[in-house]
Amino acid sequence: MTAIASKYIWFGCMVLWFLLRLRPEWRSRKIPVRHSARDTREIILLGCSLTGLGIIPVVYVLTGFPRFANYPLFPVQTYLGIAVFAAILWLFYRTHRDLGRNWSVSLDLRERHTLVTTGVYASVRHPMYAGFWLMAVAQALFLPNWIAGPAGLVGFGTLFFGRVGREEAMMIGAFGEEYRSYMRRTSRVVPWIY
Ligand code: SAH
Repeated sequence: MTAIASKYIWFGCMVLWFLLRLRPEWRSRKIPVRHSARDTREIILLGCSLTGLGIIPVVYVLTGFPRFANYPLFPVQTYLGIAVFAAILWLFYRTHRDLGRNWSVSLDLRERHTLVTTGVYASVRHPMYAGFWLMAVAQALFLPNWIAGPAGLVGFGTLFFGRVGREEAMMIGAFGEEYRSYMRRTSRVVPWIY
């Protein structure tokens, strides 16, 4: 396994993920939004995540920049990355299926929004964010570079910690005691741990 192969396998995995998101993305455009908490802060957070999980690693794969931060790849990194990515694709498929028409890329409540508490949402409140955390881990495994590898952890971590409390407050505002009781019986991202 070479560093170049590892980079392009990462790229291929991201293309598969992108294709998986096309249908929900396309469908969600047709469903009206009743309330939105998208503000400048939210757009900056989305920008951080896009930079860390998308722009920096794509520039690295296509140009090799920043070359000075390269380190020798251990082939096991790539094999672990492939295993993690298989889990990611499954998790995104399931979260989109369970969340259905309620999904949105940002903090939105749709017309006739319903609270989903079943399927992958039965034990954790943010399984899709769990998927993004895993995507950041996969990136760190696939890309043998001290900057492009961990960039996803920093970028998505910024979005996650800047957003998750606001999202939960928005859901309490919309669903009140129903969401509070859902919070009491679930974890945020990792079952029983966090
Ligand atoms: N945080 C969730 C969802 C991410 S998509 C996850 O990680 O799986 C973001 C949108 O999903 C938010 O705008 C919110 O309106 C909606 N949402 C979040 N949790 C939900 C739930 N349990 N049921 C229905 N909609 C939810």
